[in-house]
Amino acid sequence: MAFYKVTFNEKYRFATVHNYGCTFRCPFCSYKLKSGEHGKPGLSYPAPERYLKTQEIEEALSQVSIEKLYFMGGEPTVAGDLQTIIDFAKETLGISAYLGHTNGSKLPLPNLKGANVGLKAWDDNLHLAITGKKKKEIFDNFERAYREGMELKANVVYVPGLVDVDQVEGIAAWLAGLNPGIPFHIMGYIPVPGQEYERPTAEQMKEVDAACRRYLQNVAVSHIDQERALNLSSRDDRFAVTRLL
Ligand code: SF4
Repeated sequence: MAFYKVTFNEKYRFATVHNYGCTFRCPFCSYKLKSGEHGKPGLSYPAPERYLKTQEIEEALSQVSIEKLYFMGGEPTVAGDLQTIIDFAKETLGISAYLGHTNGSKLPLPNLKGANVGLKAWDDNLHLAITGKKKKEIFDNFERAYREGMELKANVVYVPGLVDVDQVEGIAAWLAGLNPGIPFHIMGYIPVPGQEYERPTAEQMKEVDAACRRYLQNVAVSHIDQERALNLSSRDDRFAVTRLL
């Protein structure tokens, strides 16, 4: 069991079940911003005091009027009761379930409507070095989920000097081979403790955006700083939530 929190957005009528833990070891992981710690593998912010029981999550979700259910991480597929709650959302609540953030290592999943997949690098060796996992495994999962009809989005963290424009562009070109309409979000790296990489400039963001728009129709970029990353709810009401559990 790795779910530890359930939140609810009344305005947009969705709930989110939050997981602690991840199977990847990305050096640029923005969860590191939460703790200021560095050097540890995976998520480096402190573990929650307690994990939730499946039944209490289901009861909380039953008490609110929602149209969608999201799972966030870390990596939500590490939670042993993920599939049970996805099935509950579809079969009991009659709503759609999505992985709001996933590294793609467990896709596709039955009854899962969609996922936003973080693809980390295009080069095989770089992917292995960043994540500890083979690129082929992840990209094959993405393709299988796409062919099964899941609603997929992809995102990448653009880190000059590590995940450079050629890496982001390679991913964009590959996605276009599946469907040029797949939404693709390029996130400018937000410096995290313990890493030497610098935040991209506005000019670099324009360059990577333009490179990807040669292949894909739905490209978005974000270029936020640390302060904004830690205070998303003050500027975007999709992050303004109340805690159910
Ligand atoms: S897959 Fe996501 S949550 Fe996991 S270490 Fe990488 S960036 Fe962090």
